[in-house]
Amino acid sequence: MKNCIFCGSDGKLSNEHIFPAWLQAHLGIEKEKLEIAFYSEDPQTVRSLVYGSHLNGHVCQNCNNGWMSQLELAASPLLKEMLEGRVSRILTDDEIHSLGLWIFKTALTLHNANPYPQVIPEHHYHLAFERKAPAHCWISIAHLKDPLVQPAWIQDQNWLGAQLHFSGDELREKLKQTYRIIFGFGYFAARIIYFPLNLRLFPLEEGVQFIHPRYRNTPILWPPSRSVEDLWDLNSGMRILPPFSQLSIPSEELTDYE
Ligand SMILES: [Zn+2]
Repeated sequence: MKNCIFCGSDGKLSNEHIFPAWLQAHLGIEKEKLEIAFYSEDPQTVRSLVYGSHLNGHVCQNCNNGWMSQLELAASPLLKEMLEGRVSRILTDDEIHSLGLWIFKTALTLHNANPYPQVIPEHHYHLAFERKAPAHCWISIAHLKDPLVQPAWIQDQNWLGAQLHFSGDELREKLKQTYRIIFGFGYFAARIIYFPLNLRLFPLEEGVQFIHPRYRNTPILWPPSRSVEDLWDLNSGMRILPPFSQLSIPSEELTDYE
């Protein structure tokens, strides 16, 4: 018998909705067809099913009815406001905390239930159970210019600039240690990045707000002053800094400034 992906117990497993039941009911999509495009180095996979039967059967009843259900309760009022574009204010610390955990939990559940290679380390699920995020993990939110009619997501392990540092098998191995998951519904988009490589990631994008880790408690305004065009904007906006190269300026030029 399989153990719960989150708490590791061998308690009775339940069927957890990947896109939570409250969200499906709110969007009226329980019976709609879900088309998921998985984007990765592997060929793209598209899987069609009905939202209401898109379930993750690897979560135990205690988790599903306990901390996960509490997290849904804590995050759903804000998420409903956000997906409809109704909120216009600075989010509270409590809201940001619940939102960050909810995004992490949802990304893990989505990932686990789908045919994409299982790239997320097992201990990330255990950390979520302890209401923690792993080190080297960034969680962001963005406001979409045009609302998504149906929830959608993208998963990727490629990074702009990676080829400047690695090649061949080493490149493939390094990329496999990372992940990036993006999903959205309505006006709301979220992204989680796990990047444990010893290289610096640099955001090229505008309108994407980092909610974890927080930088000096920067206020998180919703909606942000800029919207992003679509989910793909969140997939291509981070790049790895190029390796530092020695600047060679002829000494004559330097002396000109004296
Ligand atoms: Zn459990």
